[in-house]
Amino acid sequence: MTPHAMLDMFRRKGGARCIEIGRQIQTYLDDGLDPASAAKVASHLHACRRCGLTAEDYRRLKSALAETSTPMPAEPLQRLQALAADLATGDKPT
Ligand SMILES: [Zn+2]
Repeated sequence: MTPHAMLDMFRRKGGARCIEIGRQIQTYLDDGLDPASAAKVASHLHACRRCGLTAEDYRRLKSALAETSTPMPAEPLQRLQALAADLATGDKPT
């Protein structure tokens, strides 16, 4: 197997995991996952900067929503909307 093919394989693997994790982040932050899935998400958020940032955005949105006096932070909301669009079209990891 050529290094290029290997890289391509890793990229695809990571991308599929990111999509799967992306769908679970919100449930994870709401403590809605079973312990095994929660552990999987937690370790991925630790290893993957992109998903880690997504989780951070969710946290910020959640705390903003909890305090009704705080305006919705626009930037993370836009990133989440972009991510949702990515997930809908079949995202390719960068
Ligand atoms: Zn990821």
